[in-house]
Amino acid sequence: MNVVDILREAIASRRTRFAFELLPPLKGDGTGGVFAAIDPLTDFDPAYVNVTFHREGVKQTRLADGSVEEHVVRRRPGTVGISAAIRKRYGVEVVPHLICGGLSKYDIEDALIDMDFLGLHNVLALRGDKSKSERSFTPHPQGHAHAVDLVRQIAAMNRGEFVDGEVEVCHHSRFSIGVAGYPEAHFEARDITSDIAHLREKIDAGAEYVVTQMFFDNRRYFDFVRRCREAGITVPIIPGIKPLSTLRHLEILPRTFSVSLPEELVREAQAHPDAVREVGIAWAAAQARELKEAGVPAVHFYTMGRTDNIRKIAKAVF
Ligand code: FAD
Repeated sequence: MNVVDILREAIASRRTRFAFELLPPLKGDGTGGVFAAIDPLTDFDPAYVNVTFHREGVKQTRLADGSVEEHVVRRRPGTVGISAAIRKRYGVEVVPHLICGGLSKYDIEDALIDMDFLGLHNVLALRGDKSKSERSFTPHPQGHAHAVDLVRQIAAMNRGEFVDGEVEVCHHSRFSIGVAGYPEAHFEARDITSDIAHLREKIDAGAEYVVTQMFFDNRRYFDFVRRCREAGITVPIIPGIKPLSTLRHLEILPRTFSVSLPEELVREAQAHPDAVREVGIAWAAAQARELKEAGVPAVHFYTMGRTDNIRKIAKAVF
């Protein structure tokens, strides 16, 4: 069953499902860390597991003769492989993320063909962020400038159309496509109205559901959903929740993800500097409880690889 069918079933049965997102292992690590992060969460019958995709970076090595060698490397490669390993081990649906950044349409097509062969029929289609060396996001010369173009490529492949114009009649992939949405607007967007208009383009191009950027005040999510519905977006909009876990998050999360933190949460964290993880768990559990009561089909937890806090939240809510 693909993710959109799981979501439709959740809506029909009025059951809010638990879902979470993981990072692939750092290069050189095996699968053990990822499996250890998933194991404590299997009790909560996850609807699906997302696996992030990480873009390449440039590493410089100084050689003995003084010259500099550049290596184009990915610190966390293997999104497709670990997704297939998770699916096989746990029998759960897995959603590999796929980005435009640093990839040509041909690279993307190859990755999609691998995913199809491995039984991965879900994908979260994203643009990705600029690389460290860029001032702003620059598409690959043979790649895509926006996530909507990636959605179009995947939807075309589902119809048997490949990037070189070849049309394949005997086998069609059947990817269920999700995309990202931003309750507080994407940081590059002119405003929330234009951001939602671009979100609508992704849906019109074939995306079947939306996963939101993290937010810490549920009113942001409810308001976003209302605006999306007014803009004609009818697909499920899955709230993304990230529990605060360190004092540094107070500064890092707003800067990195262009999100705001409610004053009350900031005050609580600052008042309990040795127990920020517990503060974050209580806050995220309250958010998830309210979202569940509001009847959302799933809550998507950002784990960043550590899941002890997510387990406590899931135990309290699901
Ligand atoms: P887009 O939809 O292309 O939007 C980017 C900006 O361009 C927005 O401001 C939008 O309003 C604007 N825009 C869109 N279409 C057009 C158009 N046609 N013309 C003009 N402007 C347009 N990043 C990773 O690198 N790896 C991941 O695994 C990853 N997972 C994520 C998961 C979720 C749930 C979310 C919310 C984000 C994730 N990201 C990930 C981050 C994401 O890649 C960045 O936020 C990126 O900057 C934007 O991606 P997008 O898919 O929203 O882009």
